[in-house]
Amino acid sequence: MSTIAFLNVPMHGHINPTLPVVAELVRRGHAVTYHISPAFADEIQATGATVFRYPETGRPLADPPMPATVLAGITRAAVDLLPRVLRELRDIRPDLIVHDSACVWAAIAARELGVPAVSLFTTFAYNRYAPSPTRLSRQLLAAAARRPRAALGYLRSRRRLLRHRDTRGLPRFDFLDVRQPLNLVFTSREFQPGAGTFDRSFQFVGPSVGARPRDPSFPMDRLRKPVLYASPGTVFDAGPRLLRTFAVALAPLGGTVVVSTGATDPAALGPLPENVIARRFVPQTEVLSRAALFVTHGGMNSVNEALYAAVPMLVIPQSADQPLVARRVAELGAGLTIPPGDAGLVRVHSLARRLLGEPRFQAAADGLQVAQREAGGHLRAADELERYLYEAGRAGRRAPADSPQEH
Ligand code: UDP
Repeated sequence: MSTIAFLNVPMHGHINPTLPVVAELVRRGHAVTYHISPAFADEIQATGATVFRYPETGRPLADPPMPATVLAGITRAAVDLLPRVLRELRDIRPDLIVHDSACVWAAIAARELGVPAVSLFTTFAYNRYAPSPTRLSRQLLAAAARRPRAALGYLRSRRRLLRHRDTRGLPRFDFLDVRQPLNLVFTSREFQPGAGTFDRSFQFVGPSVGARPRDPSFPMDRLRKPVLYASPGTVFDAGPRLLRTFAVALAPLGGTVVVSTGATDPAALGPLPENVIARRFVPQTEVLSRAALFVTHGGMNSVNEALYAAVPMLVIPQSADQPLVARRVAELGAGLTIPPGDAGLVRVHSLARRLLGEPRFQAAADGLQVAQREAGGHLRAADELERYLYEAGRAGRRAPADSPQEH
């Protein structure tokens, strides 16, 4: 058995795919620790991992999630968190460190402690076919010029890291694209743009969608076919107007319409048609397993989960990696995409009608469902981690369950 330390950024989209992997590693007898912000401690504890909480003061990603501010937030968090994280990891003495590709502090800690590390990509793996939203680009520089405090903060923190820490092997600029000798990407080769251009250090393990804790408060028994589901994700606040548009545009087409409202109080949407269920948080994978259509912001997890359930999508991307994901969904025929500015009542209604009426969208979603499932998911991710431990001579007494698949 081995000791495996996970470190992550405090965002649902980055944490959710790791939960089934951690639960599986624990089930296989490994000791797993997980560094995360206190708000996520309970759901991580439920996997059987031992939680290490980041102090609230060093909270990464406290700013609005725009590429320039995220980059600044991540770099500052690395400076703030490293002394404590290093201290704790010295006590944990992990055989392997597994971190999100944005967890630059974990990569530095792995280097300084001489522990092998693996990076996790919850969107796409990045290169010119799937450009990272935080790569050095004209748009990013323009955004940074509009937010000089974030830009200066990033430069200051970066200088401190480069001066005082072992940053060899890190990207020169884009600290959200940290790579390791093994990189697990939570999508299939079919969905990844330019999959053939990545070397073998990238393994496309597909969506990691394990069983989630049941939410008995959600009225699953009220769902009538066709179920139409709309969610803007957990980071962006869509606001009552857009959410109401989704509800009212979809209601005439659906048996039941489910709207996840996130930061917006469902009451702010005003009176809704009687076949609409609006909740701040919805058991998404369960609702998707019954849905005929998903109106989504194009967060990678949401899209992965929808493809896993073969649900065609109307993707209305906000920012970050979402336009890239939206383009890929449309390119592969599993949905349509429009910018948020075009998401009025009539447009959303007519596109939803097309998605429900033209069988080609369902056929494309069915094809991608096969690819996404065959990629292996959380079990394959756990196999890859065990294989890596074994090859690094850190596997304790255990040999990997299976010989690795060729991908
Ligand atoms: N999610 C959920 N219920 C909701 C809204 C979101 O379970 O009502 C989950 C969803 O299943 C997904 C994650 O939150 O795993 C959202 O991640 P994604 O990458 O799609 O978007 P983000 O929230 O990071 O923008």
